[in-house]
Parts: sequence; C-alpha cells; structure tokens
Amino acid sequence: MTGRAVLRGLLGASLALAGLTGLAGLTIGRPGPVGAAASPPVSVAPPVSVAPLVGVAADNATGGYWLAASNGAVFAFDAPFYGSMGGTPLNRPVVGIAATPGGGGYWLVAADGGIFAFGDARFSGSMGASQLDQPVVGMVADPATGGYWEVAADGGIFAFDAPFHGSMGGTRLNQPVVGMAATPDGGGYWLVAADGGIFAFGDAVFRGSMGGTPLVAPVTAMATDPATGGYRLVAADGGLFSFDAPFAGSAAGQPLARAMVAVVPASGGGYLLVDGDGSVRAYGDAVDQGAVTVPPLAGLVVALDPGHDGGNGNAPQIIDQLENSGGFLEACDTAGTETADGYTEHAFNFDVATRAAALLRAAGATVVLTRTTDTGVGPCVDQRAAIANDAHAAAAISIHADGGPPTGRGFTIDTPAPVVSSISDNTAIVGPSGQLGVDVRDAFAAVTGEPVSDYAGVDGIDQRSDLGGLNLSTVPKVLIECANMQNPVDAALTEDPAWRQLAAQGITAGITDFLTAELRPA
Ligand SMILES: [Zn+2]
Repeated sequence: MTGRAVLRGLLGASLALAGLTGLAGLTIGRPGPVGAAASPPVSVAPPVSVAPLVGVAADNATGGYWLAASNGAVFAFDAPFYGSMGGTPLNRPVVGIAATPGGGGYWLVAADGGIFAFGDARFSGSMGASQLDQPVVGMVADPATGGYWEVAADGGIFAFDAPFHGSMGGTRLNQPVVGMAATPDGGGYWLVAADGGIFAFGDAVFRGSMGGTPLVAPVTAMATDPATGGYRLVAADGGLFSFDAPFAGSAAGQPLARAMVAVVPASGGGYLLVDGDGSVRAYGDAVDQGAVTVPPLAGLVVALDPGHDGGNGNAPQIIDQLENSGGFLEACDTAGTETADGYTEHAFNFDVATRAAALLRAAGATVVLTRTTDTGVGPCVDQRAAIANDAHAAAAISIHADGGPPTGRGFTIDTPAPVVSSISDNTAIVGPSGQLGVDVRDAFAAVTGEPVSDYAGVDGIDQRSDLGGLNLSTVPKVLIECANMQNPVDAALTEDPAWRQLAAQGITAGITDFLTAELRPA
C-alpha cells in the first residue's frame, strides 16, 4: 500500500497534473463508433453517448483505448473500431469491456453474463443463458490463454478457457464485489468489493486493501499495474488507492456528474480514470485521446402521467368503476376540471406533458407516458401507477391543474404520505418523493413565476394519503397541480401556450435537479 496515495484518496485532496485533461470540446482523436477509416487527428466535438459509460480498455498496440457504454456502444480513440452492440436491444446492460492482449479485439460483458466478442477476441462461452444469483459486474481477459473470467456481485467467478483459481461465491460478503483484475501472467486474479476489500487468488499477491477503512465513496473498479504487479482501486468520487503501484493523482474532490467507473493502466506507471459521464482523466504517462459526452439524464427513465383523458367525460360507466387505491376504494378516474372559457384540464395536462417529454428526451431521458393521446378513456389511476412502476422509473410525476376556490391561486405539489395496505406499501419512496417534490416546487416557481397555492398545502407542498396514484407507487413520485383553473388569473395562464411551455420547463428542471443529484457520487 502506498500510504501517501491512501491519504490523498481519503482526504479528498486533488492534484493538478500536467497530464490531466478531459475537458469536453477539446478532444483530439478519432472517435469511431461507426468504424470510420482512420484519419489524421483533428479537433472534434466529442461523440455523444446516449447511455452512461461503464468501462474502458487499453489498446496495447496503439496506446489508445476503447470506451464502452451500458447500451453496448463502443467508442474508439486512437484504436481500431471492431464493432459494438450499440443499436442492438440487450436483455441486460453492458457492465464492462476487456481487450485482447495484442489489441486486436475486445469483449463486452453484460449484467446477465452475456459476452459479445469483436475483432480477434474469441468467444469462449458465457453465462448469458444461465440463471445467476447475482448480476455479473465485470470481466478480465486471461493474457495466457486468450480466454476470460466473469465476476458476479456475490464474488462468483466464471472461467471460460481460463483456469479457475477460486472465488468468493458462497461466502457471505460485507459489500458486493464490484470488479476484478488479473495478474500479468494470468496465473491469478484479485476481486475487489465496494468497501475496498481485496480477495487474492492463484499467484495474485495480496498487497493491501481499504477493507475496514471508512471511505468517502464506494470503490467501483480496480486494475493491475503491469509494471509493478501491484494494483489500484478507484472509488465513485474519483479517489484512487494504489498498492505497490505508482500514485500519480486522482479526481477526489472534483465535482463529478456521475460516479467513476473504471481505471486502466498506461505503459509507464500512469493510468486513465473514466467516469459514467464520459470524462477521461489521464495521470502520469497516460494520454487523454478523447472522451464522450453523456447527456445528463442518459440511462434514466422518467414517467409522465397527464391526468384524466379527453374521453373520460363520456365514459362514466368506465371511469366511475371503483378500484383499490391502497386500502380504500376510489373511482378509476375522473373527468377533471376546466376554465370558465371551457379550456379543459385534460387538454392542459396532455399539452404540458407532451412538452415536458420533449425536453426530458432532449436531456437524454427515456420517457414513458401513461397516455399518448388526449382522446381516449383512462387509464385508471392504479394502471397509471403500474405503468411507472413497471418502467422502473427513476422519477414519476402526475400533471394536473386544479379546480380550487375561484378566489385562490397558485400551484401545489402533492407528495405521498406513508400508506401500507393489503396491496401496496409506499414507505420506501416517501423520502425520495419528498425530495422530488421540493425540487419540482423550487424549479417550477423559479421558471414560471407562479406563486405557491394560497389555499392548499404548506409552502406549495401537500403530503397526502388519499391519492391512489401516490399510494400505489413504488418509484419516487409526486403530483403537481400547476395552477387553479377556477381562478381568472391562473385560468388565463393555463390557456397560454407560452406559459404551458414554461410549466413544462419548470417540471423538467425540477426532475433534472432531483435525478442529477442522485447520480452525483459522494
Ligand atoms: Zn386533475
């Protein structure tokens, strides 16, 4: 263990090094996700990755590298492009990339153990068709055989044309295994857990660990240093812990949009750090050959639920049916309100949701809508909750306008109170939903200028236990009453397309604030 390095990582100090670059827009290299022919280095805007980055592999032949994203896309920098899974639907996300020793190819590995081989990388089998107890979290190539190992979160090792040296499968771990590294001759390997614990097998020598030492942020990856036979661990916040390997700096203390996901050695003691946001940081003799841009909400699902529907008013036989809303019976849906001029709430809700969906998609999110027209009936409130739950939305919002007292105005955010029923339990999402509510309230007020309600809630927030859409949610969710359609001032706003765009921008900004804060490490 290099004590100095450990201290730096722990204290969060950062070192400004000549080799540290990685600023977007200044990359030099040959981004090659489409496999274009090599061209002279030119100054180019970084390619956009629609999914977060998950790994990096060095091209030992050229000194370049490949970056891999969770959707299987591969970005080549001063390295040949051999193919990718970008554009191909995957059962489970890609979680890592490994290169062949000669740099003539690479493998991608997915969380279900699936292996995708490109170039001279040989397919030697995979766990893709097997039921795994825990997801696969990474892989490494065996430099001796041309085979590889997969490692799962429970410490299980799956060897393909590579010797099995042992595993932690079946042993209870304090923290999940997050990565592995092989010794230069392939005679052994180390596993690393999120708490920095190291498990050594075969001819891999235990040279120290962070196990038992409180960390600012969890360890996310490791790599061996071929020059010394030591290894380095990288933490989500960019902290780096070196063990019998040179320490040349870290990103600890720097603001990261997403967690650090990989470390890869250079030939002379340097290394690259790569985060999920696409940034590449070079230390020592490592060279930053280019990075990618990951949109802020890439990889995240947002559910938008425009309240009511255009056909509800003529379908009482459907929408009046009672459903279980989490311990009590409630109508499937209602027709909603409208302004004195006859502008309907369902039209307002649908228009604001459509505008917000466009904004969220532009920020990289996958958007799920509970209805895609304004002429149907329903769906019922419980179905609306199920749509967001089934999509594993990172955030969900029901968009409404209120039919409050004509003398009152302003907007309200309804947040879930804890409700446990025979069919539901929303206690786990009460906390994050409260945060989502605060973020949406603040952003909506700032963007639209709309005051918080003077007749409902406190400071624009109303925690409720009587709304099925919130009781039945298993994902962070709020409901916004954007304005009071019975109030003449608010009614005029809702009828103005420009204000509806502001409302969509405010909702989008609040959701973005909530989600990006969740992505930020430490
Ligand atoms: Zn409504």
